Amino acid sequence: MADQVLVIGGGGREHALAWKLAQSPHIKRVLVAPGNAGTASNGKISNSAISISNHAALAQFCKDNEIKLVVVGPEVPLAAGIVDDLTGAGVRCFGPTARAAQLESSKSFCKAFLDRHGIPTARWKAFTNPKEACSFITSADFPALVVKASGLAAGKGVIVATNKEGACKAVHEIMQDKTFGAAGETVVVEELLVGEEVSCLCFTDGVTVAPMPPAQDHKRLMDGDQGPNTGGMGAYCPAPQISKDLLLKIRDTILQKTVDGMKEEGIPYIGVLYAGLMLTSDGPKILEFNCRFGDPECQVILPLLKSDLYEVIQATINRKLSSSMPVWSEDSTAMTVVMASEGYPGNYAKGLEITGFSKAKELGLEVFHAGTAVKDGKVVTNGGRVLSVTAVKKDLIAALEEANKGVAAMHFKGAIYRQDIGYRAIAFLSNSRGLTYKN
Ligand code: AMP
Repeated sequence: MADQVLVIGGGGREHALAWKLAQSPHIKRVLVAPGNAGTASNGKISNSAISISNHAALAQFCKDNEIKLVVVGPEVPLAAGIVDDLTGAGVRCFGPTARAAQLESSKSFCKAFLDRHGIPTARWKAFTNPKEACSFITSADFPALVVKASGLAAGKGVIVATNKEGACKAVHEIMQDKTFGAAGETVVVEELLVGEEVSCLCFTDGVTVAPMPPAQDHKRLMDGDQGPNTGGMGAYCPAPQISKDLLLKIRDTILQKTVDGMKEEGIPYIGVLYAGLMLTSDGPKILEFNCRFGDPECQVILPLLKSDLYEVIQATINRKLSSSMPVWSEDSTAMTVVMASEGYPGNYAKGLEITGFSKAKELGLEVFHAGTAVKDGKVVTNGGRVLSVTAVKKDLIAALEEANKGVAAMHFKGAIYRQDIGYRAIAFLSNSRGLTYKN
């Protein structure tokens, strides 16, 4: 008998989760709430209008519809305790509890935890008083500073300051102008770390850590990492900058230490743990934890998972990950290029028709939808990041060429996208192996 599952969320990450889950022979139907046009009616996958904020009603919906598993995509419902509430009501739900999700939802909790367990991170201090924050900034011996809202701010609550004056201004913006609302009641001031940024994720059942291949996101809007920060404009996996040995070091000194520390503190962490790392000259250091898959990293990690995602998640919840370790493709690279609305990350229009899906399919590419909707039988834009085109090929250069062909096949008015996703890896590979990239 095949099962029904529910994915919570509506972005590219959730489309990728639903796409991978639908490949499981154990699953007959994947519902996505709220979903997008890509998950609206797509083989085993369809959308559900059930509200995700009323956890009691959601639990009842799951029971009425014989949902065997709920997989939570975004951080906000996790921080709001969706796993605690659904599990408490007898519904299986994949992800950390609200207390465990504090690793993401409270930067001050996270930084204090890292220090307690000797896990490498930037030097820091947290403040609830803007005057004290500014006097610390004035006296700090950090060469450059980063000011962060401690709470969840949709990835936007971080201000990199070029000087001390700028850092104090950032404190005022966050604490007094309340640019990020209640997320900025506490600020974290930390030293600026320099190096290359990578994403190392793992599945963990609270004891065992199963690392995923490392990925790299591209947060800036424009080529060459120029322009404003975004939710992510593209990613690739694996990131060759992380050797097998370095990944083992990261597993042991960061991921496993974190999982062990959470267990020791009586807050077992079960789910996907995402370490945003800076590869500094002193070794990898934690920039942030996320308590779920990243978006767009998810769109390049899951295509490399050879195992059945449903089985991996069930083993994780059953605390039996050690006997069901996920298996990853060793001989392919995935690349995803995000296409966004003109004006993003600022204001943008919605409702513009999107074409090219059948051409992308002919090319053998996956188009994961994010901000899309169906209107009058047509697929239209409905958000900032609209979709991402994902290619899986034998190597990075082939994957980039293929993804770029897919982007050229897709069309909506004013679409913006980067053409240099993976450029750091290409530079790394060409330095180490003499590769050339023809554009
Ligand atoms: P966070 O939400 O803490 O990961 O910060 C968002 C982004 O800000 C990161 O992905 C980094 O690009 C940048 N960032 C955060 N903290 C630091 C730091 N200490 N040094 C340099 N860049 C940082």
